[in-house]
Amino acid sequence: MIIVFKANASQKQKAQVEDYLIKHDFEYHPSQGKEQAIYGIIGDTASLSPEFFKVFDGVSDAFRVQESYKRCSRAFHPLNSKVKINNITVGGNAIAVIAGPCSVENHDMLNTISKNVVKMGANMIRGGAFKPRSSPYAFQGLGEEGLVYLREAGDKYGAPVVTEIMAISDIPLFEKYVDVIQVGARNMQNFALLKELANLNKAILLKRGISATIEEWLNSAEYLASKGNQNIILCERGIRTFEKSTRFTLDLSSVPVIKKKSHLPIIVDPSHPMGQRDLVIPMARAAIAAGADGIMVEVHNKPDEALSDGPQSLYPKQFKDLMKEIEIIAGALGKTIAKS
Ligand code: PEP
Ligand code: MN
Repeated sequence: MIIVFKANASQKQKAQVEDYLIKHDFEYHPSQGKEQAIYGIIGDTASLSPEFFKVFDGVSDAFRVQESYKRCSRAFHPLNSKVKINNITVGGNAIAVIAGPCSVENHDMLNTISKNVVKMGANMIRGGAFKPRSSPYAFQGLGEEGLVYLREAGDKYGAPVVTEIMAISDIPLFEKYVDVIQVGARNMQNFALLKELANLNKAILLKRGISATIEEWLNSAEYLASKGNQNIILCERGIRTFEKSTRFTLDLSSVPVIKKKSHLPIIVDPSHPMGQRDLVIPMARAAIAAGADGIMVEVHNKPDEALSDGPQSLYPKQFKDLMKEIEIIAGALGKTIAKS
């Protein structure tokens, strides 16, 4: 249920509504818009009638939220929400650029790539330490050792680090080493994992599932938000379709759709859907043009020797050129590139 107050509603009028809600065990989430205050009500709202609230002094409207993802819906929180990670704010006017290798392969390669990408303007570093590989015989990541290297690179180059979690039992490690915990496409509907992550205060990057609808994706985000974690960033990474020319079909239409349905920031990973580095660049540009709050791109200093996703990893020089291009595109939209 949403209660919309009149622009001139007094504190006393709001308090009357609040008192009623508290007395009847409802949680309410005030959200101050440019003119009006909006209260999102959580609880067994089936027993409440919008008509009942409409007659309170100071209330201009009351209605039910149709979506099952209430806390993540735009109706619940009309203004864009912003996720702060150290000096970076995702969801505001500054574009987040997360760059780095697919996997953390060893200390020196991560150090070299991190140094390069941060120098070229990336504001967060990525790299997988626990890798979800289709084959059990493929490189599975360095585990905790990889997290240690990521933390070292993040601290050395002054950029937050983003990496994927796969198991609930690894949460303490991620709390210790990581700034943004990524939930990968394959775990988007791992509800047991989402429920545990919902208890944390850390920022969570929730990738879209390989065959997930936007509604399913937002419902997964709702699991994270349901216990109050508001630090959620969505990441479009392509969906499986009949098209075979690319690894996945990058559904950039999800960017404006998410912006309409939800207040959460959304970034785009053009690397995993496109699968080849020459195809990644145009879609990275397109993501910014479509209104994404950031991009996440795989970059490798020696892609031919990469232990995973070499063909889609950009050479550092390509990343440098891309940064210049997206700065221009962001500028055309009145945005800048965030600085870590
Ligand atoms: C990744 O970003 O490293 C990754 C494995 O991506 P996805 O979960 O989107 O496949
Ligand atoms: Mn990868």
